[in-house]
Amino acid sequence: MKYVIGNWKSNQNLTESLIWVDGIDAIKPHFSPDVSVILCLPFTDIAGFNHKLSDLKIPILTGAQNVSHLPPGKHTGEITANMLGELVNYCLVGHSERRRDFNETSQMVAEKAGFLLGNSITPIICLDLPYLDEQIKELFQQNIDVSRCIFVYEPIAAIGTGHPIDPIDANHVANQISFLIDNAAPILYGGSVSADNVKSFVDQSRIDGVLVGADSLEPTLFAGIINCLAEK
Ligand code: PEP
Repeated sequence: MKYVIGNWKSNQNLTESLIWVDGIDAIKPHFSPDVSVILCLPFTDIAGFNHKLSDLKIPILTGAQNVSHLPPGKHTGEITANMLGELVNYCLVGHSERRRDFNETSQMVAEKAGFLLGNSITPIICLDLPYLDEQIKELFQQNIDVSRCIFVYEPIAAIGTGHPIDPIDANHVANQISFLIDNAAPILYGGSVSADNVKSFVDQSRIDGVLVGADSLEPTLFAGIINCLAEK
C-alpha cells in the first residue's frame, strides 16, 4: 500500500474546505485501491468535510493534525482522542511545527500516540534526525505498538521551502527508522513534495508514500500527486 497524506495546517475554514471537495470532485483524480489518500484537517472542518465526501462518494480518508496528550476531564479547550474517534481514522503527531511552537516533547508525542491507538486512530508520527532515536525509544518505553503507526521522515530544512532533500538521502533515513522499529510499519517522506518530484521519492525501496503540506491545499496540485502514485 502507498500513502498520500495531505496536511492543511491552520488553513481553510469549513466553507473553504467544502469548496476544495467540489474542486476534487470536478477533477476526478485516479483513486487506486493500492493508494490510500488521507487528508489531515483543522478540527473545525472534519465533520462537514466527511459528510460531503460521503455524499459525493469520494474515497479520501480524513485525519486530525493534533490531539490532547491528556485523558478526558478538566482540560479546557483540549480535543481528546475519544472525541476524535467518531470523526477520523488518522491523526498527525509530533509535527516539527508543534515541537517548535508549542514545546511538544517526545514524551507527549508518545502519550498522544497511546491515546489515539486506544481509540482506534492510527498515529502518523513525524520524525526528524535530531530527535529520531529519542522519539522511537520513548514510544517503546510507553509500550506503543509501533506496528499500528505510520512514520514520516520530515527534515525541517525541507518543509515549506520548495527544496526537498535528495530522495536517496531520504531513503537512507527511512531505512534507519525501519531498523529501529523492526520493519513493522509504513515510512513516508515529507518536505516540499509536489507532482514533479513525488515519483522520485516513492520509487525508493523504503519510502511508502508522502506527506504533503502546501500542495495539498490546491485541488489541482493534490490531484496531480494522487495521479502520479496511481499510475506507478
Ligand atoms: C509539512 O509541513 O508536513 C509539509 C510536508 O509541508 P510542505 O509540503 O509544504 O513542505
